[in-house]
Amino acid sequence: MTKDGRKQQAAADLRLREVLRVPRGEQIDLGAYDTRTAYDPRTGPGPKDKSAGLKDTARMGKRLAELQERLWAAGTTGDVRRVLLVLQGMDTSGKGGTVKHVVGLFHPAGCRVKGFKVPTPEEREHDFLWRIEKEIPRPGEIGAFDRSHYEDVLVPRVRALVPREEIERRYDEINRFEQRLADDRVTVVKCFLHISPDQQRRRLLRRLDRPDKRWKFSPSDIDDRALWPAYQEAYEIALHRCSTPHAPWYLIPADRKWFRNWAVARLLLEHLEALDPRYPEPDYDLEECRKRLLAH
Ligand code: AMP
Ligand code: MG
Repeated sequence: MTKDGRKQQAAADLRLREVLRVPRGEQIDLGAYDTRTAYDPRTGPGPKDKSAGLKDTARMGKRLAELQERLWAAGTTGDVRRVLLVLQGMDTSGKGGTVKHVVGLFHPAGCRVKGFKVPTPEEREHDFLWRIEKEIPRPGEIGAFDRSHYEDVLVPRVRALVPREEIERRYDEINRFEQRLADDRVTVVKCFLHISPDQQRRRLLRRLDRPDKRWKFSPSDIDDRALWPAYQEAYEIALHRCSTPHAPWYLIPADRKWFRNWAVARLLLEHLEALDPRYPEPDYDLEECRKRLLAH
């Protein structure tokens, strides 16, 4: 086999679903990237440079769009399967960028994108999953959450807004909820966009420097940043408690945007290929219709 051939074969064999998955029951250390563990926010298995990454993401775009169309088409005739991409990560980790560059590869008509902010007074009157349940993708759709129900085991834990027992209860409730989604044929793809504190500082500074980015900045981002270790710990616990066989977590090295986009696109591709949705057979008489059309 030629060198190029070997490279292509290696790329085809790479199963990101296995490589980036947080193994069930694994206690992870997000801060250990200095010692070059698997959880390095800078890099992961895949294309080695930006130009190769961008090229491969564009190439995947065509395949992703085709699979989405098949999922949508199958949904018109009773196939209830759908996909939900859950994006979590610290400020500037690239949740919005992933929606723009990866979910943007799909046809917007088949997508349902939802961002979750600080709960409104109305949302606060209900259980934390109330606002989430309303946004679950319908059959045939691809949904994307920019933040999610996981905020409710992160912010309140770090800021001690609710009792610990309540947070404990929520992990179990999330697992039951996601099991229900799996039973309803929702493929949940949960991506934690892992960035380093240095990278976050650079991105926050850029937001201040550039007039076209300032609207994204909030002084409270600095308060959250000051709580970085507590947030990392809260993420470690959430990834540990809620990486289940029916809805595993994937850890996405997100310091480099092109790699992050490539990895999330690739994960979605692997999931959609496994679903292998089929265009439905027509429920009308093809020959009869052709004849009628030709006759008029
Ligand atoms: P952003 O996504 O940066 O525009 O900001 C949204 C803000 O809403 C973030 O600071 C989140 O932490 C916060 N947020 C989202 N959901 C919740 C929640 N359930 N409880 C508390 N804060 C939340
Ligand atoms: Mg923010």
